[in-house]
Amino acid sequence: MKPRIVVLISLSALIILVFIQYYSISQVYQLKGNEFDLRYSRLIQQALYDLEYNLGENGLDPTFYSLDSAAFESIEDLQDIEYNIDSIRIYADIVKKFQNIILSSENLTPYIRTFLSGNEADPDFISDFVIRKLEILDFPDEHIIYDESGNYLNEIILWDLESFENALQVNSYAAEGNYYRITFDFFIDFTHKRRIIYQEMAGIFTLSVITIFIVLFIFIYTINNMMKQKKLSDMKSDFINNMTHELKTPLTTISVASSSLADPSIHSNEERVVDISRMIGKQNMHLNQLIDHILDVELWERNQVVLTMQPVDISKFLSEKIKVFRMEHQDDTIEIIEEYNLDDLTLKIDEFQFTRVMNNLLSNAVKYSFENTKILVKADVPDSLILQVRDNGIGIDQEAQKNIFSKFYRADTGKGHKVKGLGLGLYYVKKIIEAHGGEISVESNRNMGSNFIIKLPK
Ligand code: ADP
Repeated sequence: MKPRIVVLISLSALIILVFIQYYSISQVYQLKGNEFDLRYSRLIQQALYDLEYNLGENGLDPTFYSLDSAAFESIEDLQDIEYNIDSIRIYADIVKKFQNIILSSENLTPYIRTFLSGNEADPDFISDFVIRKLEILDFPDEHIIYDESGNYLNEIILWDLESFENALQVNSYAAEGNYYRITFDFFIDFTHKRRIIYQEMAGIFTLSVITIFIVLFIFIYTINNMMKQKKLSDMKSDFINNMTHELKTPLTTISVASSSLADPSIHSNEERVVDISRMIGKQNMHLNQLIDHILDVELWERNQVVLTMQPVDISKFLSEKIKVFRMEHQDDTIEIIEEYNLDDLTLKIDEFQFTRVMNNLLSNAVKYSFENTKILVKADVPDSLILQVRDNGIGIDQEAQKNIFSKFYRADTGKGHKVKGLGLGLYYVKKIIEAHGGEISVESNRNMGSNFIIKLPK
C-alpha cells in the first residue's frame, strides 16, 4: 500500500477516534447532569416535605399575607383604566411588585440551604420565582394582570426565561387571597453544577486525553519511522545505481583497452601500448579508491578506525597536498590559490585521514564546478584553526545544505551537470573532522560557489 494512503487511513481513524471520545465524554456529561438533577431534586423535595410536615409551614405564609396587602393597594391603580399601552406599564409594575414580595419574604431558600448543607450537598444556588398567572380580585371585578398561557401582557419581557434552562423547577404554587389569585413556579439554579460535574468527570477526562495523546504520539512516531524507512530505501537504491554506474565506466574502459592490446597490429606501436597500459592502471587505481571508500565508511560505522595523531606543520602539510592534487589534475583548468596565516602552527592530526579530507573537498570543488575552476584554500588561526576551501562552482541550495553530510546523500545538481558519486565523501569528511574534535560547515548559494569551513581546536 502506498504510504500516502496509509497516512490518510490512519489519520481518518484518528479523527474518528477523537470524535468518538468527544461524543462519549459529552454523553457522560449529560448523564452526570441528569444524575445531579435527580439527586438534588430529591433532596429539595425532602427539604420541602420536612418544612411542611415537621415544622408545619410551607415557607410562604408571610408572603401570601403580604401579597394580599399589595393586591389591595393595587386595586386603586386599576380603577377606571382601559387596557392600553399605559395600563400595560401599570400591570407590569404590579407583577414586578408581587415578584419582589415573594423573593424578599419567602423562607424556602434559607431552609433548603441549611438542609442541603446538613446532607453533604452543595448549598450554593440562586433561587427565583416565575409568576405564571396573576389576577386582582375587586369584587365583582376580576382583573387579569398577567397570564402567560393566555398571552396576556406578553408584550413586556418580565423574565429572561432562557436563563432558567439549566435550573431545576422545584415546585409550583397556586394561592388565593382576599384580593388576588396567583400561580407561580419556584426555580433553583445551582451555581457550581458544572464545576461539580467536571470534578466528578476529571478521571475519565484525563484518561481520555492521555489516551488520545498516546495514540497521537504513536501515530506520529510510526509515520515518521515509515518516512525514514522510505528515505533510506530510496537512498539505498540510489546508492546501488550510482555504484553500478561508477563501476561500469572503469570496467568498460579496461575491457576496451584489453581488447586493443589483444590486437597484434598494435604491438609494434610501443607508445600506444604504454598509453593503454597506463590507462588500465589509472582505471584500476580508480576502482581501488572506490572500494577503499566504501570499506572506510564501513570501518567508521563499526568504530574500528583508530586515529594516529602526530604533530604536523599545517601550512607545510596543506602546500604539499595541494601540490600533489595539482599534479593529478594537470589536464584540467584549475587554479588553486593558497592563503595561510598560520605562524608555523603545528597541530596533532592524523595525517593520512586529513589528506583524505583535503582530497575530498578539493575533488568536490572540481567535480561540482563550471569550466574554469578557481579554488581558494585559506587557513587562519584566531583561536582555533579555521580552514576554508572555497570554490566558484555550482553551489548548494539551502535545503540540500542540511543533508550533504548525511550518508548516501547526493544533492540535485541540476540539468547538464550530472556528476558521478556515491554520496559518501562529505559523510566521511565530517566523521574524520569530528574524530579530531572539530566541526565542519558549509556556506553556499545556488550558482554562487561553496565554502566549506573546518574548525579545529588547537
Ligand atoms: P558525492 O560527491 O559522491 O556525491 P559527497 O558526500 O562528497 O558525495 O557530496 C554530497 C553532495 O554534496 C554531492 O552530491 C553534491 O551535490 C554536494 N556537494 C559537495 N561538494 C560540493 C561543492 N563543492 N559544490 C557543490 N555541491 C557540492
